[in-house]
Amino acid sequence: MSEQEFIKELSEIGLNLTSESISKLNRYNDFLLEYNTHTNLTAIKTKEEVYLKHFYDSLTLTKVVNLERGTLLDVGTGAGFPGLVLGIVFPNLEVTLLDSNNKKIEFLNKCIKLLDLKNVKTVYERAEKYTSCHREEYDYVTSRAVAELRILIELNTPALKVNGLFIAMKANIDEELSSSQNTLKKLNCTVDQKIEFDLPNNAGHRTILTIKKNSKTDLIYPREYSKIKKHALLK
Ligand code: SAM
Repeated sequence: MSEQEFIKELSEIGLNLTSESISKLNRYNDFLLEYNTHTNLTAIKTKEEVYLKHFYDSLTLTKVVNLERGTLLDVGTGAGFPGLVLGIVFPNLEVTLLDSNNKKIEFLNKCIKLLDLKNVKTVYERAEKYTSCHREEYDYVTSRAVAELRILIELNTPALKVNGLFIAMKANIDEELSSSQNTLKKLNCTVDQKIEFDLPNNAGHRTILTIKKNSKTDLIYPREYSKIKKHALLK
């Protein structure tokens, strides 16, 4: 997808980019591909693919949530997807990019400086450690391609304010959603919206699921990562 197609496809889903966002995304795209020649950040190697599979895909979240303002934590952000893209397009959204891989955090810090983004910061930490001491702080928590849904619900929702939304980005979600039912109950959460669509240019099927936190999370969650992984929560 060229830059022009990217802009056009976004306007078709109701998102009109400012010239400042277009210019910053263009510089982010170049910097990512250049950095990727010496540090492994993404399997994607062309500018057109970055526009489609990273930038457009990240911005499909605007199909379900208005992200003009508020606080957002992107858990397992990698090279900034979806969090950094959202931070560029929505300068009034306060974005925290979290990852446990320091090479990715170093890249993100350089990007934030290069693009002079005042609304974006990074955290080099494991998710379970961060969310256990930043409880009820964020309006939104996002994750793309990080872990199984039931694991993400336990990792991410402690950091949400009551009535906040966890937004999960997946290809297909039905099986993971049915094995997350007990976790949803124990974490006082319910499914809010689920939408499915295909990316342009046959680039794949996507599901966006929003999960609402209905009351404060019990202090026993999140458990240690090994426990979350090995032992699904029971009734
Ligand atoms: N969200 C990005 C994307 O869609 O391109 C990156 C996806 S990458 C496959 C998964 C990322 O999650 C990696 O950068 C990894 O370091 C991070 N990650 C996995 N488990 C984590 C945890 N428990 N805490 C923090 N980061 C984690």
